[in-house]
Amino acid sequence: MVDDLCRSGGEIRFWRCADERVEALAVAADIERLVFHDEVPPRRIAVLLPDALGEARELLSALQERAIPHRPHGAGAMLQRAEIRDALAWMRLLIDPGDAGAAVRALIRPPIEMRHVDLAQVVQIARRRRLDVVAALPAAVESPQVPPQARERVHRFLELHSEAAIALAEMAPQRFLDQLLDRLGAVRGGPLSASSTLAQRGASLAWLQAQARAFCRRYPWADGREMVLRLLAVAESGEERVATEADRPTGGNGAAGVQDHGEGLVQLMRLDAPPRGEIDHAYLVGLCASQGPAALAADTALGALAELGCRSVVLSYAVGGESQQAAVPDPAVERMRGAIGAPWQEMAAAPADPDQAIEAALRAMRQELLDGVASIGGRLRELRLDTEIDVSHGVVRYLELVKLAALLERPAGQSIAEALADVNARLLPAVSPLQREILESSSLDEELLAGRGLAQAAPALGRAEAGAPSLQRFLPRRGEGLLLSASDIETYRSCPLRYKFARVLRIPTQATRHQRFGIAVHQVLERYHAQGGGPLETLLALLEESWRRAGFGLDAEDGTLHDKALAALRRYHERLSQQRCEPVWFERAFSFSLGRHHVRGRVDRVDRLPDGGYELIDYKTGRPRSEQQLQQDIQLSLYAIAAKESWGLHTSSQAYYYLLDDEKVPLPSTAGGAEWVRQTAVEIAEAILRERFEPTPSPAACGMCDFRIVCPVAGE
Ligand code: SF4
Repeated sequence: MVDDLCRSGGEIRFWRCADERVEALAVAADIERLVFHDEVPPRRIAVLLPDALGEARELLSALQERAIPHRPHGAGAMLQRAEIRDALAWMRLLIDPGDAGAAVRALIRPPIEMRHVDLAQVVQIARRRRLDVVAALPAAVESPQVPPQARERVHRFLELHSEAAIALAEMAPQRFLDQLLDRLGAVRGGPLSASSTLAQRGASLAWLQAQARAFCRRYPWADGREMVLRLLAVAESGEERVATEADRPTGGNGAAGVQDHGEGLVQLMRLDAPPRGEIDHAYLVGLCASQGPAALAADTALGALAELGCRSVVLSYAVGGESQQAAVPDPAVERMRGAIGAPWQEMAAAPADPDQAIEAALRAMRQELLDGVASIGGRLRELRLDTEIDVSHGVVRYLELVKLAALLERPAGQSIAEALADVNARLLPAVSPLQREILESSSLDEELLAGRGLAQAAPALGRAEAGAPSLQRFLPRRGEGLLLSASDIETYRSCPLRYKFARVLRIPTQATRHQRFGIAVHQVLERYHAQGGGPLETLLALLEESWRRAGFGLDAEDGTLHDKALAALRRYHERLSQQRCEPVWFERAFSFSLGRHHVRGRVDRVDRLPDGGYELIDYKTGRPRSEQQLQQDIQLSLYAIAAKESWGLHTSSQAYYYLLDDEKVPLPSTAGGAEWVRQTAVEIAEAILRERFEPTPSPAACGMCDFRIVCPVAGE
């Protein structure tokens, strides 16, 4: 097959990449060159992957960083697309009107586009009246604090919601979905949307509709509700298919009936599905020995590519991956290489090129600007007093674009920092005081100076809805400063946007089973000590009481958790009776000032040690973290400051007590220290006051975030 390709004049390259990220970046950089410099239409480029999501994730993020339009690979990736997540949020809301996250997404995304400040007001009304978000909307339109334009949006939302609820109950599943997408305007996109954006949106929605058709064919008796539940279950689990393989409306790569717009999208295909269409350039990635039959599939794919007249092919594998052992290429790929005597091209992590990051940011911002123009234009129709702010934000976006273009044109040898200072000095005198304020509060300069790429820069650029009014009145204030807890600080550190959702917009969340479990165990210990302790039977009786109150039932998972709680409490009681230190306070509250800010909280337990010192203990029901992982911990150090400031108590140690493992992990003496903790807490409080809520997505933070459904960057 390699010979066929060579005979037909095709070029074959073999890449040995340092790791999967390097492989993904190398592929994305090569495609970027083809698309943006050689002007190859993206639809004539294909990436063929073994059927493993890990490979696709790296690649998707690399393509995203370089703003390369691409058709996602598999259901998992499709379900992460914003337009699909919008549709899923509406479906979730129709199934469960109490789903606050889904309601919030439906309210803030097109076609409703409620401003965050109005949303915060609606949520406040819902909380005060103990209603869910949707049920609070009729009350919100009566409230004098909700401005006329927000009331208009609420009316539009309620109309759409009631129409969709009727459609779900009465229409055939497929028709319901088609109507929902139509009403959301999902298929049309904005008049200023770029053709690649429209193409991507069209591809993912067509995929969703195809999945619904496949489901209806397989389960003709199912109603809309059952189809919705199936789609939501797939989204939740990250499964690869909504219907079975046999039900797929067309074979191959998933997106049936997709219309291609303009230059189209780079195709992401499965290696084991025969490539089709006009493909001039192909990348076969992940060809290491551990991928099993990948090379066999590669051989077949090469034959098909030769027949399609493909002009260049890259065969690639990554030496390092998640496993510790260096990977080797598949022997069949080695044989192909040997047959034509081609060398391995070594691909190592390249030093970051600031200009590449700027170019990618420029492409992404161009689209953001067009979207912003459409939305600001829409708002000009509304009866509002703050139109000037909207317009100023639009102008600043444009100026930021000018700034990026100027940086790319900077004289040879000039650093980004020098060029930036120069451009800012020229831009600032040309703007109004309000635009100047917005421009100076932008994080773009910071991102550029840090040399960060698009993945980091884009969320910063998309920091808020265009013309977003201040959320100051919703910040948790105390006097001049901010009111903070240790968990607020941890939340902000994990992701500032998560803090905004939780503590500023105060979007209600439903506690997960494990969160309810943790709360129940904490409550048992609190009540046990509040009534003066006692025999094991007392402790276990409190467990039964709390268990029922926490709403746990009799299913297998609840049963397993109950067994874990029982075992943990038995060990707790035993350890308590054996230890030489004396627990003296439980759930002791503290409150102290940190500059103009205020910190408050509670310490689970304080023990007096045999040497007269005190130990602060925080209970945990998760997996123990090692001393190493606690080096950057803030909570316990903050408690130590609190004990001193609030109670006048000098504590000699602090520890996390992991109840399920009966393990006490002390805070290492090398951990941050009081000064570092104070400084970090003050910096975070000041950033919150300045409304700096740029998201910092990461698998660790997003994996346990309650606001993924609302978040504009989660999973993208
Ligand atoms: S999903 Fe991730 S990026 Fe979004 S708010 Fe949560 S932690 Fe932040």
